[in-house]
Amino acid sequence: MRSGLVSNGLAGQNEAISLVVPDVSVVVPVHNEVESLPHLLEAIASTLSATDLSYEIICVDDGSTDGSPRFLKEQAEIRNDLKAVILRRNYGQTAAMAAGFYYALGKAIVTLDADLQNDPADIPMLLAKLEEGYDLVSGWRKNRQDAALDRLLPSKIANWLIQRMTGVKIHDYGCSLKAYRTELVADMNLYGELHRFIPALAYIEGARITEMPVRHHARRFGRSKYGLGRTFRVLMDLLTISFMKKFLTRPMHVFGLLGLFSIVSGGLIGIYLTFVKFAFGEDIGNRPLLILAVLLLVTGVQLFCFGLLAELLMRTYHESQGRPIYRVREIVGKKGVGTSD
Ligand code: UDP
Ligand code: MG
Repeated sequence: MRSGLVSNGLAGQNEAISLVVPDVSVVVPVHNEVESLPHLLEAIASTLSATDLSYEIICVDDGSTDGSPRFLKEQAEIRNDLKAVILRRNYGQTAAMAAGFYYALGKAIVTLDADLQNDPADIPMLLAKLEEGYDLVSGWRKNRQDAALDRLLPSKIANWLIQRMTGVKIHDYGCSLKAYRTELVADMNLYGELHRFIPALAYIEGARITEMPVRHHARRFGRSKYGLGRTFRVLMDLLTISFMKKFLTRPMHVFGLLGLFSIVSGGLIGIYLTFVKFAFGEDIGNRPLLILAVLLLVTGVQLFCFGLLAELLMRTYHESQGRPIYRVREIVGKKGVGTSD
């Protein structure tokens, strides 16, 4: 059943231009997964056509060098539930997902990996949870099928750290199988490898987030695109995110305060040394305290200026994109001005 026909509001004036909005868009980043793709499309389609939800599948080919783009293009020609977005080169999973979000029309978005490690059969369950009023439902690979030492251990540590630093209490950030309300990701800016931090970014935007255990399978075809090097990149991203969370709208509170503290303590030491020199006539030229005072004063001024610059940058960031510093969940009330009906 195709539901969700909306018109663009011009109906009645011109001929109605209506756009089919599917209930859900399934976004899949693809990099060299040609063997998995037929099984994947089949599994998504059979799961979702068994529900009464209308759906589209958006496969974003991220610069594959195997037959993936050709296969996707062929399939998109013959089936009407698939849109293939072929990127010019390999940009990374985050960029592929961002492209998928951009072209998704659905009211909800589900992301999953192309390698069949996530199970499309879990999609209806995540969507049902989303309907309960959440903005993001994240999968939790409770029974994860990856090598213990080089995958599970770093991932455990990373998840613990991310939980502590971002304040989002979910177990498994790395799981790609997630369901989102479309408006949540529509204006989310993703850079680098930030797709793992979408829950944290969503949390900054005030989203309601929950998690559900999902199935996880060992890779059947191809191999993982990541190695241990990812751990360090995740750590750097984590620093960026936790900084953004705390200080995005008020950098001066941090840098200004630190700067002020530094200037005041440097100043006090300076006054003390001046007093020692003039009241007691002692030589202060060789005292380590003098170096400390100078250092504190200089860094203090620097921190202060940095805070001011960060304020300017932050304003440009928000204003250039017309991004308000708040997010509205809903607005209740009738339209119209001054009428009683
Ligand atoms: N992927 C991508 N671009 C990349 C690397 C990976 O689109 O540069 C896709 C890949 O095809 C898969 C998903 O991202 O669908 C996750 O990759 P992978 O399975 O290698 O990660 P793992 O499951 O090992 O964490
Ligand atoms: Mg995988």
